[in-house]
Amino acid sequence: MSAPLTFLADDERLFRDTVYEFADREVRPLVRKMDEEARVPRELIDRLFELGFMGIEIQDSQGGGGASFFHAVLAVESLSRVDPSIGVLVDVQNTLVINALLRWGSEAVRQRYLPRLAADTVGAYALSEAGSGSDAFAMTTRAAQSDGCWTLSGRKLWITNANEASLFIVFATVDPAAGYRGVTAFLVERGFPGFTVGHKEDKLGIRASSTCELILDGCRVPADNVLGEVGKGYKTAIETLNEGRIGIGAQMVGLSQGALDHAVRYVKERKQFGKPIGEFQAVQHQLARAATEVEAARLMVYNAARLRDARQPFLNEAAMCKLFSSEVAERVTSLAVNLFGGYGFVKDYPVEKLYRDAKIGQIYEGTSNLQLQTIAKQILG
Ligand SMILES: Cc1cc2nc3c(=O)[nH]c(=O)nc-3n(C[C@H](O)[C@H](O)[C@H](O)COP(=O)(O)OP(=O)(O)OC[C@H]3O[C@@H](n4cnc5c(N)ncnc54)[C@H](O)[C@@H]3O)c2cc1C
Repeated sequence: MSAPLTFLADDERLFRDTVYEFADREVRPLVRKMDEEARVPRELIDRLFELGFMGIEIQDSQGGGGASFFHAVLAVESLSRVDPSIGVLVDVQNTLVINALLRWGSEAVRQRYLPRLAADTVGAYALSEAGSGSDAFAMTTRAAQSDGCWTLSGRKLWITNANEASLFIVFATVDPAAGYRGVTAFLVERGFPGFTVGHKEDKLGIRASSTCELILDGCRVPADNVLGEVGKGYKTAIETLNEGRIGIGAQMVGLSQGALDHAVRYVKERKQFGKPIGEFQAVQHQLARAATEVEAARLMVYNAARLRDARQPFLNEAAMCKLFSSEVAERVTSLAVNLFGGYGFVKDYPVEKLYRDAKIGQIYEGTSNLQLQTIAKQILG
């Protein structure tokens, strides 16, 4: 008989609980300061590496966890329940960067970079530019070949983890006239000549997660640092982002659950009209609806991740789970703010931050309109 969707195998349950206990014990006390200072302390990142959360799918012989994509999704969900900024740091590392290397890296590339990514190297994924977001393949960053090297010139914008990362997957075109067929993925190390991390954005939410510009000013990249094939970067981008979206779905589910946890606790404590506000049926029904939505979003995310691990088609399910879970996150965090009343609006209480953090789910890794476009294409043929 097939297992129910939310049934976790022993190792999955243990892993999820370990991640959540770590987040609750070691991340929670830092959340407000990280949000205010808009940074993640390196010591916390080192802990993420020590505990194996930064190389979940990398095989054990290369220092990784040898686990599944589903485990990565559980990690992102559990971390995001406490802090969606830490959730996305781990998400980009696992579901985009490592995922792309595992799938598209040559043997030499995998040997060179996967042990580092499992040990201490943060990765980033650089597709977007100022003029090309949803229309990502209209990028203007150029790659030209000379003296057995590639030279990259241009700018990337909005790059998550850029401040902490030492390895960047950078997409550039080798031939703008070829459209998407010119797009190629390169592995760029922070120390390569001509590469700099530029302006860091000052954001509404997920403030501790760094989002920066990358400047490629004649950046020299060795020929064997092409990831996949020249001109096939569009495939790498499309396929990794399809998987990455499930991770963002997990971030939004974790975030929603975190807001719900706070709200449930608060309504039992806060008294008005002589009794806890959680005893008013109107409040109970609002919470019941929110819990139902979070459960539905989680089922969608888990199903998409399980399909991916089972090598079944999951394009539609990934788009749907990101679309839905990011909308749920906005609704549930808004409800949490409402239920906290005035206290929900101030920074001494945790829910206003989750409300701010929720908004990004409808924007990155394909806006909600782009997810709708993908789903519409699937259903209309
Ligand atoms: C905090 C943050 C982190 C990010 N991290 C990364 C990262 O690590 N790597 C990376 O490469 N990028 C990253 N991004 C970029 C992100 O993926 C883009 O912002 C996103 O894809 C949208 O692109 P855009 O901002 O250019 O908006 P636009 O594409 O200009 O979209 C603007 C509006 O127009 C709508 N729209 C556009 N085209 C259509 C259409 N055809 N039909 C209907 N509506 C349409 C959109 O839905 C949106 O509402 C990040 C962004 C943010 C804010």
